Amino acid sequence: MALTVLKSAFTKLGNEIQLIISGNYLVSDRKALIIGVFHGDEPQGKYLIDKYLNNYVSNKLFIPCLNPDGMRLNQRTNSNGVDLNRNFPTENWGEDASAAGDNPENYYGGKMPASEIETKFIIDVIEEYKPDVILSLHAPYKVVNYDGPAKNIAEQISDIIGYPVEASIGYPTPGSFGTYCGVERNIPTITLELDEDIPVSELEASVFKIFDLI
Ligand SMILES: [Zn+2]
Repeated sequence: MALTVLKSAFTKLGNEIQLIISGNYLVSDRKALIIGVFHGDEPQGKYLIDKYLNNYVSNKLFIPCLNPDGMRLNQRTNSNGVDLNRNFPTENWGEDASAAGDNPENYYGGKMPASEIETKFIIDVIEEYKPDVILSLHAPYKVVNYDGPAKNIAEQISDIIGYPVEASIGYPTPGSFGTYCGVERNIPTITLELDEDIPVSELEASVFKIFDLI
């Protein structure tokens, strides 16, 4: 299947981040952006996107792996120790995110908003390609979280995969991607938290249906 790399960037450790399409984005009536591996220790997104792109032509935009350095190091953050999902230039960037868990260093928002190559890459993609809907793949909470006007899509995704819809993940997420795109830019943004306790191949059928849906 011919894939086109529309845009790429190299991380601090020299890994490439790619924005990929396998069909023709211009003829798509709804422009969707699907992102995997925001967090390096959540590799399911890359597996599922790669598998999908190897089997289907899709006029959607894909970033199979946003955080290849974190994936190589098997850690949530990038190689600078920054949680990309707290590094976006939102009004609440830099507020205390340590309530999120036992390891506050895993939620470090960076020295400055959008300080990271990976964050800048996504911001450029959104400004250049102006997606109408965004799906970002995470693990392990088994919920369909949404920001912005995405309740309807979230409910349809919930019907497919059987996870509940939640408007908020339940702890503060300053500088998050959902706040940047969904809350502050009104782009329907879905954060799909996948099950990590089952083999990722068992997620294929429902996740591919979700890719087709959005
Ligand atoms: Zn995550």
